[in-house]
Amino acid sequence: MVITDPSFKLLLNAAAAAIGTLEMKAMRIHKLGPLSPGNPPLVEDDVPVPVPGPSELLVKVHACGVCHTEIDEIEGRTPPANLPMTPGHQVVGSAVSEGRGCRRGLLNQRVGIAWIHSACGECRWCLQGRENLCPRFSACGRDAAGGYAEYMVVPEAFAHLLPAGLGDQETTPLLCAGAVGYRALSLCKLVNGQALGLTGFGASGHLVLQMAKHLYPDSPVFVFARSEKERAFASELGAAWTGNTTDRVESGLDAIIDTTPAWLPVLSAMEALAPGGRLVINAIRKEASDHEILASLDYERHLWREKSLSTVANVTRRDVRECLNLAAEIPLEPHVSTFPLESANDALLELKQGDIRGARVLSIS
Ligand SMILES: [Zn+2]
Ligand SMILES: [Zn+2]
Repeated sequence: MVITDPSFKLLLNAAAAAIGTLEMKAMRIHKLGPLSPGNPPLVEDDVPVPVPGPSELLVKVHACGVCHTEIDEIEGRTPPANLPMTPGHQVVGSAVSEGRGCRRGLLNQRVGIAWIHSACGECRWCLQGRENLCPRFSACGRDAAGGYAEYMVVPEAFAHLLPAGLGDQETTPLLCAGAVGYRALSLCKLVNGQALGLTGFGASGHLVLQMAKHLYPDSPVFVFARSEKERAFASELGAAWTGNTTDRVESGLDAIIDTTPAWLPVLSAMEALAPGGRLVINAIRKEASDHEILASLDYERHLWREKSLSTVANVTRRDVRECLNLAAEIPLEPHVSTFPLESANDALLELKQGDIRGARVLSIS
């Protein structure tokens, strides 16, 4: 329902102001340090419900995904701009109030919120629709309060209208692992029938495999993963071949997405590419532990014949929206296991201990 009656809008704004005096529950990071069972990093706080400013929405959070990035924030690898901070950047909720100047008609609609909470809108990357590279972007749940809470605010320009048919909880992993995987897949510039490789098979890999099978039905997908469990999961989802991260395949692959934290699989992948092949690295950082392997980089073996290499950083609004629409069309149904908001510490610990089957999601209201 879209409300256009101006007097009703005034009433809603008054209600929004009243909400500002109400309190809500939020699980917030108060201090940084290693995440362990004896050191639960999030504290359940009662805080005021935020009031949306101009061109912002107040979103009642239904569900928020739990991501490795939260662990990076807590452990200080990508620290919050200030403390205490409410993390969470895979948010599904409904827009219950809007500030002055909102124009997109999102009030009372179901919306998603992803990593980019806002961007400057003026730099050369923003002007090209590449706000993922904006040097002044603000990250949801790191620089601005995120979705481990009953309510949050977001600029309406960075809220994503959700297609019908996707469940609240099932949508949350699409807003991060799904969208960044979708961006990586787009950068592969695959043509139907060309062979795709996935090196590493985590939260993003299992969604990318399903997207690739839908978009490029004649393309065989080769999955390189360390654990037996991951390889079995990949086969179940339709991988044509599975093997370890450094296993050889007989014929060259046209594109490979690498999601591992190491360098050895990168060299193996470059070698596995066919002439003209493209390697896309979808990793925030590479561990230094095996970087001496780069000394064995051999121009002829790894790069010559127009092989190319690129990386993926964050996601644009366009990636998020295209990924959501594609997920609804397939339909893609990520496996999720849910936790109540107050058990966010348990969800984070489970994630750190690792098991890719199913994204962890906080079910909030
Ligand atoms: Zn994430
Ligand atoms: Zn910018």
